[in-house]
Amino acid sequence: MPLALLSASAPAATPAAAAQAPKRALSVFYHALRRRLGPQHWWPAQTPFEVIVGAILTQNTSWANVERAIANLRSASLLQPAALARVRLSRLERLVRPSGYYRQKAKKLKAFVQFLDRDFGGSLDRMFRQPTAALRQRLLAIHGIGPETADSILLYAGNHPVFVMDAYTRRILSRHGLAHPDADYHQAQALFHAELPRQARIFNEYHALLVETGKRWCIKSEPRCGECPLGRFLEPKP
Ligand code: SF4
Repeated sequence: MPLALLSASAPAATPAAAAQAPKRALSVFYHALRRRLGPQHWWPAQTPFEVIVGAILTQNTSWANVERAIANLRSASLLQPAALARVRLSRLERLVRPSGYYRQKAKKLKAFVQFLDRDFGGSLDRMFRQPTAALRQRLLAIHGIGPETADSILLYAGNHPVFVMDAYTRRILSRHGLAHPDADYHQAQALFHAELPRQARIFNEYHALLVETGKRWCIKSEPRCGECPLGRFLEPKP
């Protein structure tokens, strides 16, 4: 049972276990990464609204750049929906400039707070009380919000159980033969939804662990499989 595999007392996974139970490979990987890396404490933000701002600003840039833009917004007391809705677009562009693509991102932030105000009276609590699938569709209809950003908002700001897919995760799945290299966002996401318990706590932690794995070991040009906790699950080369 995936639930048992994801309990704190789960037995140590072995390469044989992963090979013999491919349907459970994602659960086995989770435990291997948890043991090596420990809890990740994601998302790095002080409020749900700050998570949303970060999810939009992190598109096509490093987190270090996002932190600089968020620090600017915090200094200007703009990390609240109403304040962000009032600020002039030109000023917002200047403040988020460190995150790159700043004109587009300022417009995206404006589009989100306009949506929040129009549909939910500016209340994130009201917004997040919507059913997951329905809210996801509405988020995807906002200018500049794609599947990864919508799912980051749902999971990390709203505690909705959707798995966030990203380039690191798809690379890891592909290198382990769990997904086709050309699998699209929703095909890859469906693997996690099918195998794991539908719990935000687990999806939160697992995504963070995979991002850390991608940064430390599963590098695009040269994977460091010998040092990686998932290295023992690779098929031996003939
Ligand atoms: S670095 Fe190697 S072992 Fe680690 S996740 Fe990537 S392909 Fe797998």
